[in-house]
Amino acid sequence: MSKRFNPTIMAVSKEFEELWNTLFQERVRHDVDTSDECAPNNLSWIEYWKQETNNCDFSAGSPICPSCGKTKPAREFVGAHVIDKSNKKYICPTCKDCNSKYKGDNAKAHWFNVKKSLLISIPR
Ligand SMILES: [Zn+2]
Repeated sequence: MSKRFNPTIMAVSKEFEELWNTLFQERVRHDVDTSDECAPNNLSWIEYWKQETNNCDFSAGSPICPSCGKTKPAREFVGAHVIDKSNKKYICPTCKDCNSKYKGDNAKAHWFNVKKSLLISIPR
């Protein structure tokens, strides 16, 4: 295989990655200070998230935390408050470690990509 094809392949795959991200991913960070907000019906945020999404991936097995990229047991996930660049707020499952690590200024500095299908709006 000739090396001269590589720049083309790299350019196409870069474009594809950008398109993919635009279509299916949202860039978000943990929201700052959300401790006083409660989910409806006395649910925890992760319970509320499961109810709204019907997502079985997080009921069993070892999902990947979108915030740190690590595989963790499902029981270690919480419903984290996240916010996108236009200040829209969502609930997104992340591991407990990330949820407690990214507070205040730490949260502001840590942006990550998450599948749009994992985000739900916060009820008002
Ligand atoms: Zn994590």
